Amino acid sequence: MFFLIFSILLYFLPALIGRHKADAMGIFLVNLLFGWTVIGWVIALIWACAAERYVPVRFVPTFGRFCCQCGVLSPYGAHFCAACGRAV
Ligand SMILES: [Zn+2]
Repeated sequence: MFFLIFSILLYFLPALIGRHKADAMGIFLVNLLFGWTVIGWVIALIWACAAERYVPVRFVPTFGRFCCQCGVLSPYGAHFCAACGRAV
């Protein structure tokens, strides 16, 4: 019984490693469908271990700005904080 569970975990090791990646479903399908051919298992493992593509995060201030003194959100285009009067 232990050997069966260990074998299943070993078979789905690439899917377990890549479960939090953007291509998790693709890794799982390659692992499930082609894992029995050892080459498919190795490909799924390499895919799961490969580095995630870097996506830069851009901040686009469209809703307003936060006051440095009190932290209240002022509407976009405002020059002074509505709560404390400090320049934003
Ligand atoms: Zn303020």
